[in-house]
Amino acid sequence: MAEDKTFYITTPIYYPSNKLHVGNSYTTVAADAIARFKRLTGYRVWFLTGTDEHGQKIQRQAEAARKDPRVFVDEIVAWIKELWEELDIEYDDFIRTTEPRHKEKVARIFTRFYEQGDIYKGKYEGWYCTPCEAYWTERQLVECNCPDCGRDVELIAEEAYFFRMSKYAQRLQDYIEEHPEFIQPISRKNEMVNNFLKPGLEDLCVSRTSFDWGIPVPFDQGHVIYVWLDALSNYITALGYSEEGSIFETFWPADVQLIGKDILRFHTIYWPIFLMALDQPLPKTVFGHGWLMLQEGKMSKSKGNAIDPRVLANRYSSDALRYFLLREIPFGQDGIFSLESFITRINTDLANDLGNLVSRTLTMAERYFAGVLPEPSAADENSDSELRLLALETPAAVESYMDQLKLSDALAELWKLVRRSNKYIDENTPWDLAKDPAKEPRLGTVIYNLIESIRFIAVMLRPFMPRTPDRIWEQIGLKDDSALHNWASLLEWGAIKPGTIVARGEDLFPRLNLLAEIREMQGGQPAVQDASGGNDAEEPEGLISLEQFQQVDLRVAKIVTAENIPKADKLLKIEVEIGENDLRQVVAGIAEYYKPDDLVGRQVLFVANLKPVKLRGILSQGMLLAATSEDGLLSLTTVDTDMPPGSRVS
Ligand SMILES: [Zn+2]
Repeated sequence: MAEDKTFYITTPIYYPSNKLHVGNSYTTVAADAIARFKRLTGYRVWFLTGTDEHGQKIQRQAEAARKDPRVFVDEIVAWIKELWEELDIEYDDFIRTTEPRHKEKVARIFTRFYEQGDIYKGKYEGWYCTPCEAYWTERQLVECNCPDCGRDVELIAEEAYFFRMSKYAQRLQDYIEEHPEFIQPISRKNEMVNNFLKPGLEDLCVSRTSFDWGIPVPFDQGHVIYVWLDALSNYITALGYSEEGSIFETFWPADVQLIGKDILRFHTIYWPIFLMALDQPLPKTVFGHGWLMLQEGKMSKSKGNAIDPRVLANRYSSDALRYFLLREIPFGQDGIFSLESFITRINTDLANDLGNLVSRTLTMAERYFAGVLPEPSAADENSDSELRLLALETPAAVESYMDQLKLSDALAELWKLVRRSNKYIDENTPWDLAKDPAKEPRLGTVIYNLIESIRFIAVMLRPFMPRTPDRIWEQIGLKDDSALHNWASLLEWGAIKPGTIVARGEDLFPRLNLLAEIREMQGGQPAVQDASGGNDAEEPEGLISLEQFQQVDLRVAKIVTAENIPKADKLLKIEVEIGENDLRQVVAGIAEYYKPDDLVGRQVLFVANLKPVKLRGILSQGMLLAATSEDGLLSLTTVDTDMPPGSRVS
């Protein structure tokens, strides 16, 4: 390993005023995947995350909870650390802004700014938004509210310290223009320059007197240091900035600072200016990624279990959750979270593509070669060379996307190899080769190539899904051969030795029943006990609002046709009428209770706005409502007089 190649990556430090939802987890999972990738490709990596624990909002929430702020944040920080452990976040350091190692250095930084004239004392009058910790001028307000979050602002007048932003504004603007890689994605660069720098940067108020939960200004008691100056400094204080012989010298400037797009302004304007004032180089890239949204808008706690990352990781595995987050959020854009898209990803990409590839291959290796990896023959058919070339090209393609922070594209590239390998099975039909003893050498080549391709895939999966590769090594007999887990081993095709003992194990990702999962996770009954405990008590679980209920489009439907589905004993394919010329096809699990002929002509209650899904390859566009009893009875719901099809139910 070349010790001279270093890589420093940071996440924002999280505000421990609330537990994190699945959207918040994205940044940290992405940073972890990048850090793991860099370690795997030979870099000496430092990966920092942490918590931003000061400020008025925390103080007020702690007061409301009748807790000391320290105790209040300790509890949430413990929860966050457990979450990172469950998601296999392998950080090198976790900084808390309440730690002495941070506070001392921030106090010294503030003093230095004051002594060199960057900070001066003045008087502040302005509108303050507590949740955003931000001051606004009168003209910045939108309808008298905070322009960022729309909430109430308070008029505050106080003596305060100011940072002379104007002194550095031009230098920063020049820097941004000369370093197109500094703010990413590029679209955000123009936003920062045009909205904040070009109109002229106002001096920033960097102290507060209205509360005391923060780092005191060292030479003026009664003032605490503005929470953003405090928080942003973590990226260097954690490295031991200003200490002789610290790793700061090795790792600064940061290679990538990953943040949500909402805090881009602080990271690409104030942060670089503070660094310029400290005479330090700027981070190479600040990347403001998109958000994971719920279909109905931004995430909030009331959406229940389906967005609690710990519940999702416990039920579906942290690897599945990591895969979903990294695959579903495109580079620089917003992604959408729904339980449906999550389960669909697990079923298609993980169970069908990856899981089937491994289980089919290992089953054949056991059946045809008693689990001993055969020797490939020298003969090379088209499909062999295609598979081999793609496998050898994929690492460079993945690396190129990772370097551009396009994680979703990197995974898509890797999945091309997964799908090509499955296609290779279909092209070579090993089950036919096995019928003819003369074709045994060919059969051996096919199985060998598949196992080697699976090895390539497992190595490349490591940064994204840390647990799955181990399960694959176990099955392909490479558990203890760590040389073949390395990125460098992907330079050569054919590294796994014939004679290696392989054995099919448990399916990597069992297929899930989409409807059952939705019922379980969104049906009000928590499928898994909320592992977090505490703090959630304000909101009774399982209650939905009238508006939420009204989002369900319930109709009276008339069954027009019904038929059995071959090889699916429990399912019927049913057509219902929900209005003139409005026919819907649904797949319903009621074949054990109703004969198709008995159903035709019946009126049933029907959910008309369920997202279409495919069950056994058949499109299902809605759901019939049925009651089930504990001892296994099932009865379709209906109305007690004849109603026109399509009548609304509420
Ligand atoms: Zn606000």
